[in-house]
Amino acid sequence: MANDASTVFDLVILGGGSGGYAAALRAAQLGLDVALIEKNKLGGTCLHNGCIPTKALLHAGEIADQARESEQFGVKTSFEGIDIAAVHKYKDDVISGLYKGLQGLVASRKVTYIEGEGRLSSPTSVDVNGQRIEGRHVLLATGSVPRSLPGLVIDGNRIISSDHALVLDRVPQSAIILGGGVIGVEFASAWKSFGTDVTIVEGLPHLVPVEDENSSKLLERAFRKRGIKFNLGTFFQSAEYTETGVKVTLADGKTFEAEVLLVAIGRGPVSQGLGYEEQGVAMDRGYVLVDEFMRTNVPTISAVGDLVPTLQLAHVGFAEGILVAERLAGLKAVPIDYDGVPRVTYCQPEVASVGISEAKAKELYGADKVVTLKYNLAGNGRSKILKTSGEIKLVQVRDGAVVGVHMVGDRMGEQVGEAQLIYNWEALPAEVAQLIHAHPTQNEALGEAHLALAGKPLHSHD
Ligand SMILES: Cc1cc2nc3c(=O)[nH]c(=O)nc-3n(C[C@H](O)[C@H](O)[C@H](O)COP(=O)(O)OP(=O)(O)OC[C@H]3O[C@@H](n4cnc5c(N)ncnc54)[C@H](O)[C@@H]3O)c2cc1C
Repeated sequence: MANDASTVFDLVILGGGSGGYAAALRAAQLGLDVALIEKNKLGGTCLHNGCIPTKALLHAGEIADQARESEQFGVKTSFEGIDIAAVHKYKDDVISGLYKGLQGLVASRKVTYIEGEGRLSSPTSVDVNGQRIEGRHVLLATGSVPRSLPGLVIDGNRIISSDHALVLDRVPQSAIILGGGVIGVEFASAWKSFGTDVTIVEGLPHLVPVEDENSSKLLERAFRKRGIKFNLGTFFQSAEYTETGVKVTLADGKTFEAEVLLVAIGRGPVSQGLGYEEQGVAMDRGYVLVDEFMRTNVPTISAVGDLVPTLQLAHVGFAEGILVAERLAGLKAVPIDYDGVPRVTYCQPEVASVGISEAKAKELYGADKVVTLKYNLAGNGRSKILKTSGEIKLVQVRDGAVVGVHMVGDRMGEQVGEAQLIYNWEALPAEVAQLIHAHPTQNEALGEAHLALAGKPLHSHD
């Protein structure tokens, strides 16, 4: 069908990552005729270079830690080391299983999949492999790539990005990680579990700086305990090669040396040279600008995912893609409340949150209108069994709804589902306190936190 020049698709999608393929699947489900153009692999960053491979490495790291620490549970094992080739095989098997599944899904929904590098050639078409693919509407979903700093050249060997780190054929003896955001702390955690001596360099005053400050501080305490080093509040100045690795100098003159430098300072949009500006699409620093319905300023063009300046998360890409598909199919599209998007950082311990921080709540509602409560996981039986520590912090508007849930502790990412219902349904603490949480689960800690906030604490000293 793609070869038939007379075909006009309902929707032509450029980029087959989380945002693009979600839009394709939903649009096809709603009866639209869809072309999906991808230059590399269907599934994009999340499946091949992001969410899935990092979580596989982190899980392998967790197993290594369990092997090392099993005696405290009365189980005798010996940790003999990391077979990195086998770790990669495990990770790659997970990816290839999901990849096959996704390919099957796209085929079964009768999406026309076109492999090739596309370029926007008019407000209603994309050129790929020497052909013009016409659509009534075009969706831009070309995603993002790792960023670097001026003068800092990523060589893929000693100075690497997350893409390289995911396929590194060795466990580095030592690593400096530039950037203490989500990607930086996840690699710090996995590498430390593998045996690497890790130092994180973060220019802002805290690790995971977009989280509530309490979560950042808890993570910093936990990382200190794990022997993960970090330098906060001073920016990077330069990097140079040494005989055995890399030396990093900070703005205050402090230096650090290690075998590798992982640059994890964020990701920038893929938009250059793709025809967007020529077709009049409004942009800002490479990001495509959209309204709350993911519409660009060009009526026939929408954009989603990491290409637009919203949260860079796979599930945000899915939601934005679905929104576009439903809008184009004539369904009522509901704008996304980005504060209501669950966020998880999968390091050990995990950091999970939904809603707004205490600082933002005070800004929005006034300091005297904001109530907070911290529930320590020390009071939670399941967390004790797992030997994990941490806290759940709730942010509430006085006499009103819970507007922020911030959690730190092993497996806390799994608790964010209920937390997001609480935030998105604007639940009152007393309403959540009324719900019965299974004992002994870590989920119970969320229930206990709300019992305490509703004024009837159970297993809580506060
Ligand atoms: C290390 C790492 C860990 C992450 N972990 C998580 C996580 O745990 N949870 C989470 O929610 N998010 C995570 N993310 C973020 C998540 O991967 C992204 O938010 C998500 O992949 C964005 O989807 P997208 O569709 O916008 O872009 P992408 O997934 O980048 O897809 C864009 C696609 O467009 C294609 N493309 C680009 N240009 C062209 C062209 N000219 N022609 C044809 N095709 C083109 C690319 O090949 C790519 O496949 C992580 C990211 C990284 C890097």
